[in-house]
Amino acid sequence: PPSAHPAQTQTPRSSRMSREEQAVARARKAFETGRSKCLDYRILQLESLKRLFVEKEKVIADAMKKDLNKSEVGTQLFETMGLEGEINMAVKNLKSWAAPRPVEKNLLTISDTVYIRPEPLGVVLVIGAWNYPWAVTIQPLIGAIAAGNAAVIKPSEVCVHTAKVMEDLLPAYIDKELYPVVTGGVAETQELLRQRFDHIFYTGNSVVGKIIMEAAAKHLTPVTLELGGKSPCFIDKSCDITIACRRVAWGKYTNCGQTCIAPDYILCEPSLQDQVIAEITKAVKEFYTENPQTCPDYGRIINQRHFKRIMALIDDSTVALGGQNEEADCFIAPTVLRDVKPEAKVMQEEIFGPVLPIVPVSGLDDAIKFINKGEKPLALYVFTPDDKVVQKMIAETSSGAILANDCLVHYSISTLPFGGVGNSGMGCYHGKFSFDQLSHLRSCLIKKLNMEGVNAMRYPPHTPTKLSRA
Ligand code: NAD
Repeated sequence: PPSAHPAQTQTPRSSRMSREEQAVARARKAFETGRSKCLDYRILQLESLKRLFVEKEKVIADAMKKDLNKSEVGTQLFETMGLEGEINMAVKNLKSWAAPRPVEKNLLTISDTVYIRPEPLGVVLVIGAWNYPWAVTIQPLIGAIAAGNAAVIKPSEVCVHTAKVMEDLLPAYIDKELYPVVTGGVAETQELLRQRFDHIFYTGNSVVGKIIMEAAAKHLTPVTLELGGKSPCFIDKSCDITIACRRVAWGKYTNCGQTCIAPDYILCEPSLQDQVIAEITKAVKEFYTENPQTCPDYGRIINQRHFKRIMALIDDSTVALGGQNEEADCFIAPTVLRDVKPEAKVMQEEIFGPVLPIVPVSGLDDAIKFINKGEKPLALYVFTPDDKVVQKMIAETSSGAILANDCLVHYSISTLPFGGVGNSGMGCYHGKFSFDQLSHLRSCLIKKLNMEGVNAMRYPPHTPTKLSRA
């Protein structure tokens, strides 16, 4: 009977597809219409995305307060202002970034047209992390839109309220077919990873980074991995310890230490340790008052799982400052640990919390040796007025970025590539680097059919006389 025919008993294909598969299929179909390639359309989308940050400032800030106890000003400073700046830069420069890039020619191509043409890759998967959820999810999206791609956006489920705001608001501001939002946890991310993308842009920890890369390998999909790690901070005896410690305390305790480029630990000579502790203590009081738990500018640990993880890192070290905590409030006070041994628990993994170990070293050479024994970090900090010390640190170590005499602020310079090396990641972005990262730089050589005589040398028969004539 006709109804027994398999084609007639099958449910329509779309209803058998997972939500994730459907989102990817919709994005690909939208990409195939070609509208994301139009420069004016890209600019329209970027401008509209920027409007979201202005018009929904309050909604965004409320969710960030609930997720991480971030203040409204903190949210603007560390998340949305940077995104607006990136959008302005992309809008201003898009026509020149996307234009063909002529290159130097060689003798054989002197009369030809030779250039690089940046082209969209197709459908990009953006997987965000929770610590600066807007910055790390939307910044890659800005690059994806600017480069003319479609993008599936997967916010981190860990920042519950912000993920919901992204799911609700993004489709109201940008093309929801080209840039769909898929929410959910590990299962949903893994279902997304089974789909075929043209690029995967992942921000998060290195363990999951390996899962992402393995999934991408099945489709030979290129990846950008923005990972973390232990970013060292060397304080040289030559520097103004008060200023150095204010800057380190700010870099460490901002967002309750949950910053991928936060200084993870301090290296300094034993004779400096007491002074460093005293100055960090002063800075912490100045920034967060005597009681950080009631200070509106001091954040919270994202959830109790991370609270327990961080507290478990402390118990074999000596607390020199802080240590107060309250699990129900996900509160851990700004903490400093003294005389920390390299084998202590806190030195075995990225801390990602407001705990700052001091590991004594005998000097610059010893610090360099210590840093080079570990994985290549995302950021490396050195505090000294002595340029020779800075240059030696630069020359003898490797890291995603190196910053002398401050913390974190290299992130805000859109003309610098932001990314890791080795265990801290691969690929980079921000500004034009985002555009290039999510473009295919296609080589184009346009020859004419004349001047056939110059080709004689390369055509067989390859007799020695041909070469000598050349
Ligand atoms: P997370 O737990 O939110 O994970 C990030 C994403 O990975 C989420 O969308 C989640 O759904 C997905 N995910 C988690 N486990 C998975 C699994 N088993 N399989 C597939 N997908 C999975 O964030 P996190 O990893 O806790 O983020 C913190 C880390 O991110 C830190 O190591 C930090 O240094 C790093 N980080 C790096 C940067 C950077 O720019 N380099 C920025 C922010 C954070």
